[in-house]
Amino acid sequence: MNNENRREKKWQRPTLTPHRAGGLNKFGANRYESVRDAIDGVPVTELVKEYGSPLFVFSERRLRENVRRVKRAFSARYPNVIQGWSYKTNYIGAVCNILHQEGAWAEVVSDFEYEKARSLGVPGEFILFNGPNKNRKILTRAVDEGAKLHIDHLDELALLEEVAREAGKVVPVTIRLNFDTGYTEAWSRFGFNIESGQAMEAAQRISQSEHLKLTGLHSHVGTFVTELRAYTSQVRIMCAFMESVEEATDCLIEYIDIGGGFASHNALQGVYLPPEEIVPSAEQYAEAICDTLLEATNQREAQGKNRPTLVLESGRALVDDAEELITSVVANKRLPDGRRSVVVDAGINLLFTAFWYNHSLKPTRYLDGVPEETVVYGPMCMNIDVIRQSIMLPPLPTGEPLVIGPVGAYNNTQWMQFIEYRPNVVMVNEHGGVDVLRAAENLEVMTQQERMPEHLSQPFPNSLPNTL
Ligand SMILES: *Cc1c(COP(=O)(O)O)cnc(C)c1O
Repeated sequence: MNNENRREKKWQRPTLTPHRAGGLNKFGANRYESVRDAIDGVPVTELVKEYGSPLFVFSERRLRENVRRVKRAFSARYPNVIQGWSYKTNYIGAVCNILHQEGAWAEVVSDFEYEKARSLGVPGEFILFNGPNKNRKILTRAVDEGAKLHIDHLDELALLEEVAREAGKVVPVTIRLNFDTGYTEAWSRFGFNIESGQAMEAAQRISQSEHLKLTGLHSHVGTFVTELRAYTSQVRIMCAFMESVEEATDCLIEYIDIGGGFASHNALQGVYLPPEEIVPSAEQYAEAICDTLLEATNQREAQGKNRPTLVLESGRALVDDAEELITSVVANKRLPDGRRSVVVDAGINLLFTAFWYNHSLKPTRYLDGVPEETVVYGPMCMNIDVIRQSIMLPPLPTGEPLVIGPVGAYNNTQWMQFIEYRPNVVMVNEHGGVDVLRAAENLEVMTQQERMPEHLSQPFPNSLPNTL
């Protein structure tokens, strides 16, 4: 063979692909998913060249579309709706600002998140403050700034009462409720339980206080909830509680906050059907929730009371499919059991959600060779660092980019500073340009918070002999 031919037809390792009993047939199993060569029109290879690999890439267009769609779906069906943005799902400042520009309030669960929302310019009165751990200092600030306080337990209630008394104010408050919807696991560790009477007792305590008044009810019944009946049940239970608490304590409920939980189009491990088949649309969620809420609040009109405002605290459903993660192949390995594996440069340090999703993982071009069942490992020195246990992929040369998605929910907040630097996070803006939202870390960033005691500042003895 001359060199000319060699270049055209590369030698490929012959492969045998076992077709296991019970699996798909060779026609079904042998294809890999389609390729993803560009994100909002920007070629993946260009992104990697400019910003490195691994690389998180947002789509501004997609994020705005998602928020608007949920907002439209609910506002078309219920007169007064407030959309909250769950900070812990992704609190990169630019991402939060897109949500806020679209009219979303901030939903925060810690002093850090509260301070972040304020530093981004969100006024206190547009902050929904959840979470079991609000210290006196942050509560004092939140009371002063008029944040919506969602009480999680009796100790917080007592602390808040003290803070309100010191401030000389009557503070409107919301209690977080938990109960059995019949369709979700009861998250009984958060808030006050309805069935046991705890929630009513908390309402009584509040009504006896000179400094607190109950004006809102909150609950968040789960995450990735694909069962619409969980929401209809939640709304009915909350409305029934609203009626009984108003009657028992003479309060007036102004809003019902149903939390988040809408599913995104990601494939949960162990779920057979693809997300397109099991994840309800924004319109379906809205219909289930708004219809039930309208029905349950009909008689309020007759009593001369307003229907409560509906507050949403969506996270995952808004942001998940607006971000992807580009990774590159570092190595190919044959495992002793015959399976093929590849090592890529993004692991669970960046992709916490790989624990429960089968993320889609696509090459950027069609590659020669037979697709084979492959295990995809991250770069950590840690056995559990697996991105996909089993996926059909073609032979991949080292350096080959792959696109993982959706990754927008919970990865930029739950990522670990472990072993590797965290990479650039960029966004393709609505004009097709690319902006950096969070710069890659370096040694300086990683060691910024460390302090070196004087007596440890000279670690390496000059006299140590090199005996190797
Ligand atoms: C996490 C959280 C949300 C957002 O949940 P998603 O499932 O991502 O929509 C909303 N409200 C509260 C109180 C939360 O803790």
